[in-house]
Amino acid sequence: MNIIEIIRKKRDGEKLSTEEIAFLVCGAVDGAINEAQLGAFLMAVYFNGLSHEETTALALEMAHSGEMLDLSSIPGTVDKHSTGGVGDKTTMIVAPLVAAAGVPVAKLSGRALGHTSGTIDRLEAIPGLRTNLTTAELIAQVKKIGLAVGSQTGNLVPADKKLYALRDQTATVEVVSLIAASVMSKKLAGGAEGILLDVKCGQGAFIKDLKQAKELAQIMVEIGKSAGRKMTALITAMEEPLGKAVGEGVETCEAIETLRGSGPADLVDLSLLIASHMACLGSGMGILPMTAGISTTGETPVPQQALALIETLKELLVSGAALEKFRQMVIAQGGDTKVFDNPQSLAQARFEEQFKTCKSGFIQQINAYAIGSIARGLVKNHRGGILLEHKVGEMVGKGEVLARLLSDGSDALKEAMKQIGAAYVIGDEKPEPLPVLLCPPMQ
Ligand code: URA
Repeated sequence: MNIIEIIRKKRDGEKLSTEEIAFLVCGAVDGAINEAQLGAFLMAVYFNGLSHEETTALALEMAHSGEMLDLSSIPGTVDKHSTGGVGDKTTMIVAPLVAAAGVPVAKLSGRALGHTSGTIDRLEAIPGLRTNLTTAELIAQVKKIGLAVGSQTGNLVPADKKLYALRDQTATVEVVSLIAASVMSKKLAGGAEGILLDVKCGQGAFIKDLKQAKELAQIMVEIGKSAGRKMTALITAMEEPLGKAVGEGVETCEAIETLRGSGPADLVDLSLLIASHMACLGSGMGILPMTAGISTTGETPVPQQALALIETLKELLVSGAALEKFRQMVIAQGGDTKVFDNPQSLAQARFEEQFKTCKSGFIQQINAYAIGSIARGLVKNHRGGILLEHKVGEMVGKGEVLARLLSDGSDALKEAMKQIGAAYVIGDEKPEPLPVLLCPPMQ
């Protein structure tokens, strides 16, 4: 088999066999296929796509490109994955919340991709915290405290490590089949029985269009089910940034504040939605046909069982039980627990500028893509980012502060201040509130 012929076939819109995909994945990992060739292959996929069969083959080959975690000694483990959103720090909230409800969570997370930051970078903002857990450490930690979040270290999914980084460098992130294979390879290798997928859709997501988001959710659910996993996919809105903090340490700070009971409403709503579906997967309740107390597009009736579950999770959030679980995880992974006394220490940087409105009115739009991209330019060594003072739908007066920009670099800050105005639309009409969930859950 020959890589040039594989690239040519994809360039010309032909279908690849499972053997050709296996050859490509193997060559990506052992270095037999060079980065220029992999970049060319990715660009050919960007233009010509992959069929469902090709995508499934790519996900399975990538999953098996390294070690596969065996979590069979911990029944009922669940995992979650977001396809990437701006300010999406939900893992740091839902993972301890679900674990506090007694459902074991074993999660492998990723780093920044495109305009979004990654859970691993957010967690590493906590001084000392280790994410490079070995397989044995991850399993032992889940057995002990019911929760571990690690990076794809060691020999887990080396093919995704390689392709993820190359996609980031070659403008080939936004492809349904590549996202599906990347996410599902990690989730299958991660070993959890139940997998909750949060498929982000909107201007701040890699997938902007609902039809494509449904296609992505469907293929990922099919891949998971074909590998014997319990699957639920939620398609959720990503138009404005989630919560008010965008960056790395600033997002960790907001997650801790949310676990302390004072999180922004949209972040709390989404976290409860995700946590309830994860708890259902882990407890064997099956799909949760509801979203009690959460604004959605559906008018689905809410069964008692689901209402009771949401109430339990809310209680675990307000009582501090989820916060305590997060603290146990930070201790287990070597992090400094002083951040719990002073989470604001994670939201400090050498320089700060305030971005103010030049007119009064309702905030009609805060472009999440723009905010995410600007924030990435501000973050260095997990410090810096953007703190929104107001969210979409709020009324602001002329000269009010809309956002605080933080950075250790004064030039980066000046550049960001030039760009941030374009992210906002302010007008006379109050915009309609957007639903969190864009269509019924898929299983
Ligand atoms: N998250 C992933 O893990 N991979 C992608 O390609 C996109 C989001």
